[in-house]
Amino acid sequence: MKKEEEFRYFELSSNAFDDIYGTKILLSEVNTIDDIIKIFIKNTEDLFKIHNMEKQLKVFINIKSLLHIHDKTMVDIINTPCNETIYICNHC
Ligand SMILES: [Zn+2]
Repeated sequence: MKKEEEFRYFELSSNAFDDIYGTKILLSEVNTIDDIIKIFIKNTEDLFKIHNMEKQLKVFINIKSLLHIHDKTMVDIINTPCNETIYICNHC
């Protein structure tokens, strides 16, 4: 069983979605922000597929290449408390 402190919480910040989509990622599974984005994309796509959310999946596929994390290094992310939200966005 992994401890809560070993995860960071990432949430989609997108003008294309009204609902909140977030995912917890285990820090030991990622080395770079790119790794985080890849896992975030995979988990979010899986969620939409499992629940047959075809409309959301289509929109997400259109924006996924634009996803990024603002003004944060990997060290910043490691130092972010596990109960804080780190936003992944597709605009600005
Ligand atoms: Zn942005």
